[in-house]
Amino acid sequence: MENNCLFCRIVAGEIAAEIIYSDERSVAFRDINPQAPTHVLVVPREHIESLDDATQKDEALLGHLLRVAARVANEMGHSESGYRAVINTGAGAGQSVFHLHVHMLGGRALEWPPG
Ligand code: AMP
Repeated sequence: MENNCLFCRIVAGEIAAEIIYSDERSVAFRDINPQAPTHVLVVPREHIESLDDATQKDEALLGHLLRVAARVANEMGHSESGYRAVINTGAGAGQSVFHLHVHMLGGRALEWPPG
């Protein structure tokens, strides 16, 4: 755990969040500033700064995070209407919290390309 990392502190229960799902490798919670009716963040319990810092040893974990995003989307009723899983990587792509996370957005029509 990184003491100055917001998402490490949410995972540790030191900062409150609306937890939707958790297991031994990941935690999913609602984004505090939702960009869609459903906006959930799926984070690994382990601190990894970004997708760019993930290595071969993290391959199964990365797959797990995507499967959790799909499971949460399914449980929240978005399978038919569709949803989006996004990983902003680096400040230039909009990453503001440097603990790897998958955004899962659903509940409205989503445009392409994203801004
Ligand atoms: P990104 O900009 O891709 O790094 O995404 C970080 C996300 O974390 C943003 O969508 C923020 O709204 C969200 N966020 C920041 N602080 C919190 C918090 N305390 N609880 C839940 N979500 C947060």
